[in-house]
Amino acid sequence: MPQSSAPRPTPLRQLANGQPCQIRIPGICNRREDTTVLCHFRGEATGSGYGLKPHDIFGAWGCFACHAYVDSHFDYITQLAFAHGVFRTQQKLLDMGVLLIEHAAD
Ligand SMILES: [Zn+2]
Repeated sequence: MPQSSAPRPTPLRQLANGQPCQIRIPGICNRREDTTVLCHFRGEATGSGYGLKPHDIFGAWGCFACHAYVDSHFDYITQLAFAHGVFRTQQKLLDMGVLLIEHAAD
């Protein structure tokens, strides 16, 4: 059976399709919602590394242009802009009621 290299379609990845880009790199972002995917923020801070993808909660909705840029530019400013994209996406998920924070009652 042939192996597919396409990412597994998890609910948060599917939800990202068609959403506005939240990474928004100035001069790079194409704002094309038809190209948006969930872009995972990699690194030890998100429990990922070589061959390990972080949890979808550490993803930003990103257009094709921003996704390609943050995956190939690892300077501090670019990665900070990427992190802001993750935070904006998390805020959108909270606003949509998709991300729920469960806490115990006093
Ligand atoms: Zn973009």
